[in-house]
Amino acid sequence: MTHPGARDLIDPFDRVVRDLRISVTDRCNFRCTYCMPEEGMQWMPRSEILTFEEIERLARICVEHYGFEGIRLTGGEPTIRAHITRLVSKLAALGVDLAMTTNGATLRNLAHDLRQAGLQRINISLDTLDRDKFARMTRRDELANVLEGIAVAKQAGFDRVKINAVVERGTNDDEIVDLARFGRDEGVEVRFIEFMPLDASDAWQRAKVVGQDEIVAAIASEWPIEVVPATGAAPANLWRYLDGGGTVGVIPTVTKPFCGDCDRVRLTADGQFRTCLFATDEFDMREALRAGETDDEIARRIETAVGTKWAGHQINQVHFIRPKRTMSQIGG
Ligand code: SAM
Ligand code: SF4
Repeated sequence: MTHPGARDLIDPFDRVVRDLRISVTDRCNFRCTYCMPEEGMQWMPRSEILTFEEIERLARICVEHYGFEGIRLTGGEPTIRAHITRLVSKLAALGVDLAMTTNGATLRNLAHDLRQAGLQRINISLDTLDRDKFARMTRRDELANVLEGIAVAKQAGFDRVKINAVVERGTNDDEIVDLARFGRDEGVEVRFIEFMPLDASDAWQRAKVVGQDEIVAAIASEWPIEVVPATGAAPANLWRYLDGGGTVGVIPTVTKPFCGDCDRVRLTADGQFRTCLFATDEFDMREALRAGETDDEIARRIETAVGTKWAGHQINQVHFIRPKRTMSQIGG
């Protein structure tokens, strides 16, 4: 329910902004090849990372002034930020739909605490079911722990557990059907993500993108499916298995951008406000917070930032410029 007294935050293309993605750390216990280099990431200095109180304040301003309805915690790897359940409790108290995206490696120990603290939904990344390939893709031998994390998350009573799987041609595109079967067997929705040009190694090539059509064709060759009509601003397109096996999704950022329905803005771990994953501009909220600005002043900064939100990303244009930050530094 929208906060009483809040008003819609409308961007220049008449989209209402209601969803905040918060990166709580740029650090990670994995080194996925499509996201980070093996070594040499420059971590943000600790003093530049927003405190829980600062994150809570910005989130509260978004909720109270502009009626934000959803918050997703991400990173880097959100579960490695110390005392993350304390932040979850603070944000849950705002009464929003609270979700997290995680690599799942520590969930076997943390899932129940996160649920108890008020986390409602969880997305767990899993790109392969093959132990060796998992170790190659994430540069960590953690498949067993992630699978256990998924199992514990399912028991912990979240509203929904979903799986995110980035598909990279020549790496795991041979596992689309296996991953879809895993989702059916486990009763969780798998959402296949097109590989985006946000990797730290700059190895992205269009040829490595496996597009939505190809992903859906692979699934449909195994099970009859039908499209689920779109609702709201969720980035995934969904299909339903006709035999009752649940749903499966694709996030087609590259081949079928969904920017027209975008209701999202982002906050980086070091307090930079971004209006798109691919934005090249940032708005420094950390400085505003630490300079002692009032809630109204900060709200105006948010409004100014949203006034620059563009119609959509330019990945498919010749003049596309990669953002300076990578996925783990922005918060995917
Ligand atoms: N560490 C957590 C995780 O991996 O789930 C949260 C942060 S991660 C940056 C968020 C999501 O972005 C993950 O599902 C990850 O697979 C995805 N991702 C990372 N780099 C990507 C890329 N270059 N293209 C598409 N998705 C990517
Ligand atoms: Fe870490 Fe997630 Fe990036 Fe993998 S995708 S390196 S788990 S932040």
